Amino acid sequence: MSADVVCGKCGSVIHTMKMLKSVKDALRSTNNRCPVCGAALNPSDFSVSATKR
Ligand SMILES: [Zn+2]
Repeated sequence: MSADVVCGKCGSVIHTMKMLKSVKDALRSTNNRCPVCGAALNPSDFSVSATKR
């Protein structure tokens, strides 16, 4: 299972987690910003879609 962290502003997949971790950990790697649109985002601004692969 992996989980995609999707920017709530632009809809881009920012981070794909190999394992389910907290969104905060995922955001830490991008300095709490979307690398695509540059928006500073809170964890609540992201949606995480977990998919079985
Ligand atoms: Zn974005």
